[in-house]
Amino acid sequence: MQTSFTLAQLADPNVAEAEKILRSCVHCGFCTATCPTYVLLGDELDSPRGRIYLIKEMLERDAPATPDVVTHIDRCLSCLSCMTTCPSGVHYMHLVDHARVHIERTYRRPLFDRALRSVLAAVLPDNRRFRAALALARLAKPLAPLLAFLRLKPLAAMLRLAPSRLPQPGVTSGRVFPAEGLRKGRVALMTGCVTPVISPSINDAAIRVLTRHGLEVVLPEGQGCCGGVVHHMGREHDALAAVRRNVDAWDAEADRGGLDAILITASGCGTTVKDYGFMLRSDAAYAAKAKRISALAKDISEYLATLDLHAQSGMGGFVTAYHGACSLQHGQKITREPKELLSRTGFVVKDVPEGHLCCGSAGTYNILEDDIANRLRARKVANIEKVKPDVIAAGNVGCITQIAAGTTIPVVHPVELIDWATGGPQPAALRGTAITAAAVRSAEAAL
Ligand code: SF4
Ligand code: SF4
Repeated sequence: MQTSFTLAQLADPNVAEAEKILRSCVHCGFCTATCPTYVLLGDELDSPRGRIYLIKEMLERDAPATPDVVTHIDRCLSCLSCMTTCPSGVHYMHLVDHARVHIERTYRRPLFDRALRSVLAAVLPDNRRFRAALALARLAKPLAPLLAFLRLKPLAAMLRLAPSRLPQPGVTSGRVFPAEGLRKGRVALMTGCVTPVISPSINDAAIRVLTRHGLEVVLPEGQGCCGGVVHHMGREHDALAAVRRNVDAWDAEADRGGLDAILITASGCGTTVKDYGFMLRSDAAYAAKAKRISALAKDISEYLATLDLHAQSGMGGFVTAYHGACSLQHGQKITREPKELLSRTGFVVKDVPEGHLCCGSAGTYNILEDDIANRLRARKVANIEKVKPDVIAAGNVGCITQIAAGTTIPVVHPVELIDWATGGPQPAALRGTAITAAAVRSAEAAL
């Protein structure tokens, strides 16, 4: 694609990077077929190629974003399916990230949108605020239909997504879990912002699996949200502050006690942490440290795949629909490992039709763009139910919440199933279900 930036514009390294990406697009349109918003809406401007044109024009003009451009960029899920499909290697993620920063700097959203985004940016990345907000949301849940009627749909979406019960808060930082038996290595576990509040069982399961297999697990002091929530809203300053805080925490831990890896159970966060090196590439004080952290970052499945897991007998046979989170399959190109781990530990793994399409979760997307998110969830759940699973496994807490809101089939993280199969407790989401009764019978028969 030809571009016409001025030399003055290209002096900005972010614009220069965007120009490089734009020039790599040959407008072939292969990406349109696998873009969820194009598949649903059929509008070229809601396809990757259409958005790339809009971003090019917006950046070349160096003018404030227009409402039309904002609409189409806001509708992008950042699912990165287009990056998997593109034969020319267009780095759409870095391009749309930059476009979102430009929009945030130059476009004044309506008052309600601004307020809503400010609240989400202040609440979601903070464990305590998020827990308090969910406690309130739980009480206000019955008001969801009224809010939807009043056209306050994002508020209604928030209430509908809020869990009806809140678990005890999970561990977050400043703890060390010793290895069982001979210590074979030492890893950090990034606990994240949302997971310890709504699904602490995921990190608990990861810690058990790791320590059971000889790893010391440290939750470094000072770690927090990866910055992804605000990064995807274009709030660059807030995102980079979160990134620097984590880099400091993990870099100090790596120097102090040594780290073989930094493990992440939420693939959305993992994609962001793996990009820290790029995000801080122009920061002389942090560039090298951030690169080190990105190199250490691994999805939990990526790391477990390197271990010799000790699965117990008698747990197997349960049909598990594997939902590949977009951030895992498109963002990190991890497709095989979670399924192989589940197979190795005794589960019958089924791929889901249209597995490349997003479930509609996408960070705050299911709040801010709830119509499209709901349609994508309905389509995802219908596809999952076609394989008649006993349980659904998804490696991202956002996907788990989104899919669970549309089905009665239990949805868990693969590491919870792996923990169960290697000697841990039954995942809480399975308790009282038919799968639990069957597992107990199967385990008793194996004795
Ligand atoms: S597939 Fe790649 S090169 Fe082709 S239009 Fe899409 S982004 Fe551009
Ligand atoms: S990131 Fe996803 S929604 Fe956005 S343009 Fe690419 S395929 Fe479409």
